[in-house]
Amino acid sequence: MTATVPAPTDVVETDQMVQTIERLRSTVESGRTRSLDWREAQLDGIIRFTTDFTDELLEAMETDLGRPGLEGWIADIGSSINEAEYIKKKFRKWAAPRKAKLNVALQPASARIMPEPLGVALIIAPWNYPVNLVLEPMAAAFAAGNAIVLKPSEISPATAGVIAQNLPDYLDSDAFAVFEGGPEVSTALLAEKWDHIFFTGSTKVGQIVMEAAAKNLTPVTLELGGKSPVIVGDDADLDVTAQRIAWGKSFNAGQTCIAPDYVLVTEKNRDALIDKLSEAWTSFYGTEISASDDYGRVVSDRHHQRLVGMLDGQTVAFGGDHDGETRFLSPTIVVDPALDSTVMSEEIFGPILPIITVDNIDAAIRFVNDRPKPLALYVFANDDDVVDRVLSRTSSGGGCVNHVLLHFSPSELPFGGVGASGMGRYHGKSGFDAFSNLKGIVRKPFRGESKLVYPPYTDGKTKLLRKFL
Ligand code: NAD
Repeated sequence: MTATVPAPTDVVETDQMVQTIERLRSTVESGRTRSLDWREAQLDGIIRFTTDFTDELLEAMETDLGRPGLEGWIADIGSSINEAEYIKKKFRKWAAPRKAKLNVALQPASARIMPEPLGVALIIAPWNYPVNLVLEPMAAAFAAGNAIVLKPSEISPATAGVIAQNLPDYLDSDAFAVFEGGPEVSTALLAEKWDHIFFTGSTKVGQIVMEAAAKNLTPVTLELGGKSPVIVGDDADLDVTAQRIAWGKSFNAGQTCIAPDYVLVTEKNRDALIDKLSEAWTSFYGTEISASDDYGRVVSDRHHQRLVGMLDGQTVAFGGDHDGETRFLSPTIVVDPALDSTVMSEEIFGPILPIITVDNIDAAIRFVNDRPKPLALYVFANDDDVVDRVLSRTSSGGGCVNHVLLHFSPSELPFGGVGASGMGRYHGKSGFDAFSNLKGIVRKPFRGESKLVYPPYTDGKTKLLRKFL
């Protein structure tokens, strides 16, 4: 079946937007979304939609991104179903009041954390994983009892179209709405009042989102980007290291927020690593990479030109082949680029891998710490001391030891950035908590009334309270 490509919405229907948000808000106010069965029905809707429309979604991602079917399954379809299933299994426990300990001076009493829905959430998504980055935040928001307005990316219009045309049929239409379109639609949505904004995208637009949210003091989760480094230790197994880095860099043609952006390695291993990365890519895709069905394409002409421009004046040790017509760019190794060139001053978000020579691990750590805190950091080493040094002296949203990308997958690992790479966490319980107000309540019986804290503040009361509080 051919995926439909809707025309981008150029006209922003603000009235319709306002009415839709009001409709969703009154659903929340009616109390319907608090019901755990209602929440489960929405999670089931997400799972059924993804299952029923797997073929259309895979085809749409192929149209948008030249995405190989297996990559679409791993990163978008299978992962979204797994996460929604995991949340469905656990969310009743997360939604139940959580017991908290109380100081003896407050007894007799009980303390509970009572998670409650925030209200109407706005979810703005990017194009690179156009199914996963829509459905996983949605599963968290519904599990926490919220209504949702979704704005998928206009840069992946075929996938946005399949979602916009079909997902609403699986959900409560008074608690879910989709607005397609680009920045003009986002801007109009951001002008409205929300109870939470969950944004995945670039750091630059993240700043715009946070500024808009500040006007209404709306809480935000910002899942942003940046340059995620790889540090290769002198004792790393270079065959395995190269395979894993090569896979993480060429998956979805490098258009992954946590893709290895660049590699820091000492001179001892640099040339061997370059050879082994080249061998790994050749073993994945053959010598004519553009003919491989297993290698994706750059999403748009603008991004293709941006990436090809990054190669200007660089020393290319592997790849560098490109074709504007098909938006093909082969996996490419650039050696020791100038640190002020765009390939090192901007997030690459494509299949170019700079290799930077450093003197030793401490120099690699300094290199990372001299730059904004990354979304992910990867270290390859056998020596525990090297691994510990890197992990304890650097800060990143997350990462892996001896692999790349994998930390996105486990539902029990909170996923998010730090500093310029974002704020807030999701996946599993972290996502549920992100979309909840964790209300703290102390409950006291009428019996056992103590006058200790009431005036007059006598010496005796002061002594006692200083001891127990
Ligand atoms: P983007 O910031 O350009 O766009 C993201 C969303 O914001 C889109 O829906 C877009 O329509 C909207 N938007 C664009 N300009 C806007 C504006 N001026 N005002 C309001 N909204 C606007 O990002 P992108 O190109 O879609 O995605 C790539 C970026 O996203 C990369 O930086 C990548 O690292 C990051 N990313 C982060 C994660 C994560 O989980 N942390 C995941 C995927 C992508």
